[in-house]
Amino acid sequence: MSEAIATNQTILVVGGGISGMTAALEAAECGKQVILLEKNPSLGGRVSQLYRYFPKLCHPTCGLEINLRRAKANKNLRIFTMAEVSDVSGLPGDYKVKVTLRPRYVNESCTACGACSDAVEAEFDDEFNYGLGKRKGAYLPHAMAYPQRYVIDPRIAGTDDAAKAKEACRYGAIDLDMEARELELNAGAIVWATGWKPYDAAKIQPYGYDRIANVITSVEFERLADPHGPTGGKILRPSDGKEAKDIAFIQCAGSRDRNHLKHCSRICCMASLKHANYVREKYGDDGRSSIYYIDIRAIDRIDDFYRKVKQDPNTSFIKSKVASITEDRESGNPVLQGVDTEGYHRYSNPHELVVLAIGMEPSVPRDAFPVELKINEEGYIEQDPANGAFFAAGASSDALDVNRSVQNATASALRAIQVVNRVAGTEG
Ligand SMILES: Cc1cc2nc3c(=O)[nH]c(=O)nc-3n(C[C@H](O)[C@H](O)[C@H](O)COP(=O)(O)OP(=O)(O)OC[C@H]3O[C@@H](n4cnc5c(N)ncnc54)[C@H](O)[C@@H]3O)c2cc1C
Ligand code: SF4
Ligand code: SF4
Repeated sequence: MSEAIATNQTILVVGGGISGMTAALEAAECGKQVILLEKNPSLGGRVSQLYRYFPKLCHPTCGLEINLRRAKANKNLRIFTMAEVSDVSGLPGDYKVKVTLRPRYVNESCTACGACSDAVEAEFDDEFNYGLGKRKGAYLPHAMAYPQRYVIDPRIAGTDDAAKAKEACRYGAIDLDMEARELELNAGAIVWATGWKPYDAAKIQPYGYDRIANVITSVEFERLADPHGPTGGKILRPSDGKEAKDIAFIQCAGSRDRNHLKHCSRICCMASLKHANYVREKYGDDGRSSIYYIDIRAIDRIDDFYRKVKQDPNTSFIKSKVASITEDRESGNPVLQGVDTEGYHRYSNPHELVVLAIGMEPSVPRDAFPVELKINEEGYIEQDPANGAFFAAGASSDALDVNRSVQNATASALRAIQVVNRVAGTEG
């Protein structure tokens, strides 16, 4: 089925993370018609997967909730989840866009009661927890998900499990006949806020992420630290489920490396300082953090945060690019090998858990966009003077923290508004 909506004065925002939400809201609150597309079943992007966020260490729900309230109150904004752009044609100021909507199999009558989930047996890796736990085949992506509506995993469609889910629903909210839909829309400008993904840690072979159970990534550590995460907020080792209190953080894992990502991912120094804070908060004097670094790149106000962590006697900083990690088979401890460049001595240090401060790369590979965009060497979207109506927002334009992503998204919204104003002949 295909439906046509919107006009060439509409602004289309692709990606419903903090950047896409910001760009969409800023434009909608200026009175523009905005359509926001998110490929996942809920909004929020990767910020919603953090336990806390710097610099204030607040819970991500604070910022997201404010945006959701603004979104619900704004009639100019239409949101589609499970939605992806499949084709863009036309010219700046007048694009024709095809959007594919995947079926959720659950309609607006869902009260998020959870009965369907209880009725279903099949379980799958929980993508919200980076595969650290399992979720049911009928599921709410996470506790704060917006929309608060369950999803039936397409892998159970047509099975007994799907029938059981439907039978368990007292609200008539499950519609197993739902099919993919196609929307056709007009847009004057498009903001690409498709964000980032963690670099594939298994590619950094000397660090053994794919071989050593107790080597994990920083994004996984966020989920372990979160009381709503797979371990209820306990930092448990994947190998034996024991609490890890002596934790090493390895900086520049995959970044600033010509074999992997050449760029500095900018966030990961701050993220590890924040993680040392989590360890402190959970264990007090019983916890130990060791940060292996080349140099610490802490930005702006964040330098204060660095100074504070540095003063903590339970956090040590080892100036070294870790060469390799092996595993002590008996204890399951990863053992870090390298040379401490302050004093030039070799070390072989065991820790209970190792966290790779993994690099950030653009979530959409350069040739996977449904349209030609100007992409730089690192894969980030750049403003293309030849096409004045495509804009990047947030982490699709560079490795940015939330603060910078929001500023960047606001600027992109403004540029998109200028385009649709020109189309409407209201400029100046
Ligand atoms: C370990 C770690 C910890 C961090 N901690 C902090 C912190 O404490 N403070 C801080 O300021 N920053 C932190 N960051 C950085 C923060 O996560 C980013 O700044 C933020 O996620 C950028 O938001 P975004 O909306 O640009 O991208 P994303 O969060 O990646 O959102 C992009 C959205 O677009 C969607 N999308 C992607 N492709 C498509 C498509 N084709 N169609 C439709 N939708 C699509 C995605 O599903 C996603 O919802 C951390 C990063 C790491 C690695
Ligand atoms: S689909 Fe039905 S059973 Fe499942 S959570 Fe929604 S209302 Fe409850
Ligand atoms: S922010 Fe820090 S850990 Fe991340 S790449 Fe840059 S220097 Fe390395």
